[in-house]
Amino acid sequence: MLEKPVTMTNNDTSMEDLLNRTTNLTVLDDEGWEINESGGSEVNALCAMGRWCSNRPMSRSLLRTILGRVWGISDRDWSVEIKLTTATASFLVFSFKSTKDLNRILAKNPWFLNNGILILERFNGIPQNWENGLSKFPLSGRIHNLPAKSITKGNLERLSGFAGEVLEIQKIDIPKMVSKGFFTFKVMYDISKPICPGFLFPFEGRKLWLPYRYDRLPYMCFNCGFVGHDTRVCAEPMKFVEDGLGNQLPGYGAWLKIDEKKDYLYSQIKNPSGVFSSNFPPPGFKEKPSSTSEVIHSGGGQGINPIPEFKTGVTMEASKILASFLTILGRRFWRKERAG
Ligand SMILES: [Zn+2]
Repeated sequence: MLEKPVTMTNNDTSMEDLLNRTTNLTVLDDEGWEINESGGSEVNALCAMGRWCSNRPMSRSLLRTILGRVWGISDRDWSVEIKLTTATASFLVFSFKSTKDLNRILAKNPWFLNNGILILERFNGIPQNWENGLSKFPLSGRIHNLPAKSITKGNLERLSGFAGEVLEIQKIDIPKMVSKGFFTFKVMYDISKPICPGFLFPFEGRKLWLPYRYDRLPYMCFNCGFVGHDTRVCAEPMKFVEDGLGNQLPGYGAWLKIDEKKDYLYSQIKNPSGVFSSNFPPPGFKEKPSSTSEVIHSGGGQGINPIPEFKTGVTMEASKILASFLTILGRRFWRKERAG
């Protein structure tokens, strides 16, 4: 085993730090006031600022206990100060003993906790107005059900843009997107807007509901769709979305989080004939109540076929591929069983 030289055992003392210290010269400004150039970079290397988005503010000691555990960092290696608390957020400044700890924590920004979300940024001076900053964080997810004919770079960008400022979009691969039933995206989400639950997409004279799902769901309100408070304290009425079939359904719920086990395609595999069960809800929607009287609001009054949106597009083609795949697999298995 190679051993680190004794002088390198302190993680805090990198070559960069040493160089910084040797060039730690104080200069004078026009009016003779001293300026320590390295002061700024030291703060930058060891401090962060944060917005704790929650209707449940935490005391300094609770922040230290909870974040210390979540980050796996001992009390003596970091500290936090609460600078401002409002009804929806607390603004914080963190200082760390080691740049390595700070970088590791910033790399996983934002931090999703049970009762709030912590948005972090490297410290670059106390802001003039805390509430204007720290309002964006990266959010990744999937958009389902886009018909094959509509899979174009422009459409993917436009649809992803409804979730936030686009950072990344899955490279166009129509067969792959069709077989999976979705494409992936990553955006910079802004907390001044609600989470995008889906989009009613115009297609061949009809409207298709394209559900959005997210890899991780921040602490959010299932009434209004905003991040940073929960349903119990929300004064807004519950938001509904039109599903393209004349139904008004709740826009927000735990289903917005990707759950591979409950994936839409998984349910299709259970029914490999390619025929959809009429009770099957669109992905992103709750199970359809068996009695129509339980439907919250049904538009029109015309006979609603609950599944026409699946007759075309990504999911229908995907189901056919899956069905034939499963048939082949089944035959092989049956032959094997007989042979054995
Ligand atoms: Zn709300």
